[in-house]
Amino acid sequence: MAVLLGCIADDFTGGTDLAGMLVKSGMKTIQLIGVPTGPAPDDVDAIVIALKSRTNPVADAIEESLAALEWLRQQGCKQYYFKYCSTFDSTPKGNIGPVAEALMKALDTKFTIACPAFPANKRSIYKGHLFVGDELLSESGMRNHPLTPMTNSNLVRVLQAQVKGKVGLTDYSFVKGGAGVIDKRFTDLQKDGCQFSIVDALSDIDLYSIGAACADLPLITGGSGIALGLPENFRKKGLLKIIGDANKLGTVRGLKAVIAGSCSVATQEQVRVMKEKSPAYFVDPLALVDGKDVVAEALSWVSENITKGPVLVYATSAPEIVKSIQEKVGVNKAGEMVEHALAHIAQGLVKLGVGQLIVAGGETAGAVVKALGISGLRIGPEIAPGVPWTKAVFEQSHNEPFVLALKSGNFGGPQFFNEAWDYIQ
Ligand code: ADP
Repeated sequence: MAVLLGCIADDFTGGTDLAGMLVKSGMKTIQLIGVPTGPAPDDVDAIVIALKSRTNPVADAIEESLAALEWLRQQGCKQYYFKYCSTFDSTPKGNIGPVAEALMKALDTKFTIACPAFPANKRSIYKGHLFVGDELLSESGMRNHPLTPMTNSNLVRVLQAQVKGKVGLTDYSFVKGGAGVIDKRFTDLQKDGCQFSIVDALSDIDLYSIGAACADLPLITGGSGIALGLPENFRKKGLLKIIGDANKLGTVRGLKAVIAGSCSVATQEQVRVMKEKSPAYFVDPLALVDGKDVVAEALSWVSENITKGPVLVYATSAPEIVKSIQEKVGVNKAGEMVEHALAHIAQGLVKLGVGQLIVAGGETAGAVVKALGISGLRIGPEIAPGVPWTKAVFEQSHNEPFVLALKSGNFGGPQFFNEAWDYIQ
């Protein structure tokens, strides 16, 4: 079966966000970590390649994105999608504009849209200006972002500063007219010499109209919101059969465990709540500093307790404790040591028969995924906004099904670790 939509995301969690959106709209989706080398997995409608290119030097971001595009083209995708953040995270140098232009050139296409709008998450665009909730982007917290401060809300100007081609605007007066009017506006803008159009959007209805108007564009660029309207285009062409969720993960087996390496507020509470009724083991960073074999100790504890599971292995500590460790060995070293230990524990958990694993913490999740040799994640049911269950695809052959929920530190409610299992039973 041919892949319908080939996506390139400029960061990992952005990729998961897009993949979740596509799954909800009926496309079986896999997220691949970095540019793959092997063949495409069978039986998926959409592939999201998650890069880490948002703040790379422009030339590197272009090179990686083109490599991702090349691999996707080999899979025969019908349409391509460049996903970036809904707050248009970039600098006057890029990377959104230069990467989009490089992809257009490679695809030999003369026109695309740029629409980061995501109304469900309070990102809307009006007259080309991006709003975060009730504030202009330039007055939101994004103006102080350490790497990509956004000090101008006018996306036409922001994008124009990053690209050689001309940027136009499809404002709300066109968008409210529906797909036909938007499509005509795209044609007129191209006649006017534009290669890009920023597109206004205030609601999901607008996203559906814009999606329909983009049915025949080889390349679409935007946040994850704009993906909402795309599956319907493939359905209309008879290429996509599923209506509703495409989130079935198949058989789930194996023991249950949680690894928490996040010290964020939400995770602190989730750890506290889980400890009330489940066996829990604290990975003590001070013991790691002292050179103790914490991994072996933890795994010996797990092997004694896993049948009473789900078990929790956590390094999560209160801010003052984290600070004292960081002062002792340095911020980076402390983080690395804990991540390294948790990643090794994850490898041990798999050997002990764990087949259902939750990992809390963005960096921690990255370390665990790498240590387990996972190259892709099939996206399944959503546990909490932005956190789906996924089924791991391994670099090497792996017989047992293995499901994984990777949770950003501050996501999920207090019962997340206790209740997540119900979503895959
Ligand atoms: P979040 O998603 O909450 O930011 P991350 O996993 O990305 O979580 O980051 C948490 C970082 O803190 C990781 O590098 C982890 O190894 C580190 N860490 C976890 N527990 C401790 C601790 N007790 N002391 C010092 N660092 C810790």
